Amino acid sequence: MKKFLIIAICIFAVSALYAAEIKDNILYVNVEIVPNATTIEFSSPGTIIINEEDSPFQLEFSNTSISIQIPDGIEIVPFWRIGIKKFASQSEAEAFIVTFPECYAKEIPAISFDGTRFSIQNEFAVYLNNTFSSYEEAKLNAEVDSWIEENYEYSYCDLLIYDIEQQKDYYLRAPIQIESSAPITVENVPRSNFWNPAEFVTREYESDLRVIINQIGKMNLIAHSDFENYVAGVIPNEIGTDSPMEAMKAQAIAARSEALFRVLNGVHKDDGFDLCASVHCQVFSGITDINAVTESAVENTRGIVGVYKGKIINAVYSTSCGGKTETCSNAWGGKEVPYLTSIYDGNGSNSYDLTQDYYAEKWVKNPQPVFCNTQDDKGWVRNTYTWEKKYTLSNFQRMMSDKANFGTYVGYEVLERGESGRIIKMKLKGSKGELLLENELLIRQTLGGLRSSLFYITKDSQYIRIIGRGSGHGVGMCQIGAINMAKQGYSYEDILKHYFTGIGLKKIEYRN
Ligand SMILES: [Zn+2]
Ligand SMILES: [Zn+2]
Repeated sequence: MKKFLIIAICIFAVSALYAAEIKDNILYVNVEIVPNATTIEFSSPGTIIINEEDSPFQLEFSNTSISIQIPDGIEIVPFWRIGIKKFASQSEAEAFIVTFPECYAKEIPAISFDGTRFSIQNEFAVYLNNTFSSYEEAKLNAEVDSWIEENYEYSYCDLLIYDIEQQKDYYLRAPIQIESSAPITVENVPRSNFWNPAEFVTREYESDLRVIINQIGKMNLIAHSDFENYVAGVIPNEIGTDSPMEAMKAQAIAARSEALFRVLNGVHKDDGFDLCASVHCQVFSGITDINAVTESAVENTRGIVGVYKGKIINAVYSTSCGGKTETCSNAWGGKEVPYLTSIYDGNGSNSYDLTQDYYAEKWVKNPQPVFCNTQDDKGWVRNTYTWEKKYTLSNFQRMMSDKANFGTYVGYEVLERGESGRIIKMKLKGSKGELLLENELLIRQTLGGLRSSLFYITKDSQYIRIIGRGSGHGVGMCQIGAINMAKQGYSYEDILKHYFTGIGLKKIEYRN
């Protein structure tokens, strides 16, 4: 590869922070699809246009493969700034600055939901000109009503754009935008699901990708996507492409609500995008796995979200609750959320108190007539209602010795179970020491990647067996339960109202 000389220019660029926008009543969101990349490789059979942000300069390619790299290391300088006041209009902000010339104004998006309309109205924030090199220093200079934001800047960075077919290289200054007249295939995208966090795959996306420099000096590849297309790109990863239509629709509404809830709450506000494509938000695979059925589930529920007291709900879901859903405070701590309370996942009710060890163990031993008690034993549904993990005594000891001075396994003690029966606090007892585990995810990880923390343990002369029920955190919608409800003739509305207590459904508009 021929290399050109790069001219270092000592001017700084402040990080590009993309935020959701609304154009012609369509909401567009920015989804991080590849984090922390040193090389980004993609191809497209169409006409590919790559341009610098805020510059008319652009490159045009046709039907080729391209790799993008940062040719030199980038020095990232973090800084903290103090926000003073927010105004609805530019003129108000400017009037303020006349009186306080030590400040400057910046346009920022303000995202809101008024019960019907999801809108983005830009605001004007006034900041102190002075920036600070640490949070503590900024705090010393902040007033009672002001707020502190972390940001970063870097020396202007020319990205190396290499046309793999033509073997030619070009340079464009970050951030850049990539558009194509045909789908774009991106290599080495993290699969990002719970079971395969480190696996990389090839995925296909619609046009309009962006490359930004992130806070550690690497590239982030971001998809700028029509929000409804984003929802369509989430469903195949979450509920498959062959589930019954009413379950797919319930999943589409849950995914849409969950994503809007996260955008409204600014979960990734300081990261330069709105949503990530990993399990942290929802797994999004672009157009890779979309088919007519998933598209129709999204189209037929377009704009519909779950609402509780006028607010969009945090519509979380997991593979299988195991018979009763978990409350969100037991799974993640924090406050109770009224619509994320524990429910019995079947017709009628059930009086088992699964917070009691005795009943929880009985619950695991005796299958119940619940919606997620699936007879289906194929694909991702397999072993989700009942499962068993078996270790030889020596394998178990080896696994534990990484974590603590444990010795040989002696026994365990459950200190707390949640309402689904999931263990949220337990002690593992070894001949040399004990291990206290205080979180359902930590319990699952420590014991070798269990499907859930709803289990009991047995030991004989050869094996330690962990016998359990359910898959995932168990909060909110139970996906296998939703599939079986749909098979039994329930509608998407029945399904959502069964899992999210006291909610309503509402068709919303995206409009400024
Ligand atoms: Zn995320
Ligand atoms: Zn269930």
